[in-house]
Amino acid sequence: MSNQHSKPEQTGPFDAVIVGAGFAGMYMLHRLRGMGLSVRVFEAGSGVGGTWYWNRYPGARCDVESMQYSYQFSEELQQEWVWPERYAPQPEILRYANHVADRFDLRRDIQFGTRVHSATFDEAEDRWVLEVGDGERVTGTHCIMATGCLSSANMPKFAGIDSFQGETYHTGHWPNEGVDFSGKRVAIIGTGSSAIQSIPIIAWQAAHLYVFQRTPIYTIPAHNGPLDPKYQAAVKADYACIRARAKQTFGGLDFKLNMESALVASEEERQREFEKRWAYGGLPFIGAFGDLLYDHAANDLAAEFVRLKIREVVHDPQVAEMLSPSNVIGCKRLCVDTGYWETYNRPNVTLIDVSGEPIEAITSAGVRARGREYAADAIVSATGFDAMTGALLKIDVRQSLKEKWSEGPKTYLGLGIAGFPNLFTITGPGSPSVLTNMLPSIEQHVEWVADCIGYLRYRGFTRIEAQAEAEESWVAHVREIAGTSLRSTCSSWYIGANVPGKPRVFMPYIGGFPAYVQKCDAVAANRYEGFVLA
Ligand code: NAP
Repeated sequence: MSNQHSKPEQTGPFDAVIVGAGFAGMYMLHRLRGMGLSVRVFEAGSGVGGTWYWNRYPGARCDVESMQYSYQFSEELQQEWVWPERYAPQPEILRYANHVADRFDLRRDIQFGTRVHSATFDEAEDRWVLEVGDGERVTGTHCIMATGCLSSANMPKFAGIDSFQGETYHTGHWPNEGVDFSGKRVAIIGTGSSAIQSIPIIAWQAAHLYVFQRTPIYTIPAHNGPLDPKYQAAVKADYACIRARAKQTFGGLDFKLNMESALVASEEERQREFEKRWAYGGLPFIGAFGDLLYDHAANDLAAEFVRLKIREVVHDPQVAEMLSPSNVIGCKRLCVDTGYWETYNRPNVTLIDVSGEPIEAITSAGVRARGREYAADAIVSATGFDAMTGALLKIDVRQSLKEKWSEGPKTYLGLGIAGFPNLFTITGPGSPSVLTNMLPSIEQHVEWVADCIGYLRYRGFTRIEAQAEAEESWVAHVREIAGTSLRSTCSSWYIGANVPGKPRVFMPYIGGFPAYVQKCDAVAANRYEGFVLA
């Protein structure tokens, strides 16, 4: 493995240019190159892995089980790779990404350490012109944005932030060399997935940890541990069936969704099901009953079950109360943790509620909130991402994508955008993406785009563009179906609520993976219905 900066030899023009060398960009490259296309990938980081390259914060770990959070396009790859733990830690996922890059000889077509600044469509030549790195211009017939859904850090503009004299970090841009908090006073802002994973570990290291919580979060224990080789062998022997089964589920994840209603079940049945899922751990908890995400009363039964667990674990009743969420469980993404609630029993951890009164300022010495200053040697912002649209809008895509999306993202299937010919987005807004297991969603998009480009080339077309009417009708459908779920009811990053000024639109497609795949397949079968080919 090597994360070299050496530039690939070929200079273009390319058949395709890809932005990002995470799991989407890597597979897109592999697929298109396999079709004989010339391809160049641009990656800002010095290595592959995307989200798993940048998110190196302490405790970073996938909340989807390792055996399912992996590529399935290569039988050899999925058979040879050995996952050591039930939930893979970040270094292991990064090792996997590097293994994939080496195994499929991907690095020779990836330009590392190179940010894409702008992308402009050349109408006369039917191709994209990218301005990258230090002003280099590169052209490609197709431009594929594999920029990730959670890759553009959200950094709230706290007053006085530049005056802080200590160290500052964002979980999504963690230093490669790691950080040692031993003996330090640390302030962490946020209690989302990244925070709940890092808090137990930072608390263990630091002299004192101050946690600034705006909204308490629901989290389910991971019960992580080493993967039994016998279990791993059994999964590998049955991979084809497991993967096929997963594709038939709402989230592209193989676990049992109990379609019964929580309201119809008896108290005893409900407790049994919740306890069973709590003991199993992780995201399947939300599949305990079919109506948890559709009926407030059903949802509250699950929420109260978790609140009781918090009270059982956290010794100080006042702290337990502060940690207990009152919103819809599963509306914000459910977290999966190891020892999160227990951490608040430590004498070196202080929880500060900033829900009613926002953080006042960052001072030279720490964080000021609720009328007092919390002195800190380091501040960790675990404040999340400008999700789904942030990374795309950081690139100056012309005509102006920023203008077009000023009232929220508009796409056709989360794959194409009217007014932006030959541009594809992998797991873009309007596709199931973040509501599903990302790897199968990425693979489905990559394969759809590759097949589409193959079709265009075979028929001699040089241009494809989503029709405005098809886009409008897809956007309306995405919006309508979002309204049927409780998931659209709280101020989550799914609706852009975490970023001040961002339009409030439920961005992912909530109709489920199977329905979405069916639609994409039908569009392709009907000669790319809803797109104009020329
Ligand atoms: P997040 O879920 O958006 O959480 C950000 C946290 O920062 C929230 O608690 C938020 O409070 C708080 N915050 C933001 N601005 C603030 C401000 N001005 N003042 C005080 N608090 C503020 O971000 P994340 O934890 O990085 O996770 C994002 C997503 O990444 C997850 O939902 C998940 O999809 C993915 N992820 C997955 C894993 C995994 O696989 N295990 C791990 C990490 C992340 P509010 O809730 O009040 O906005």
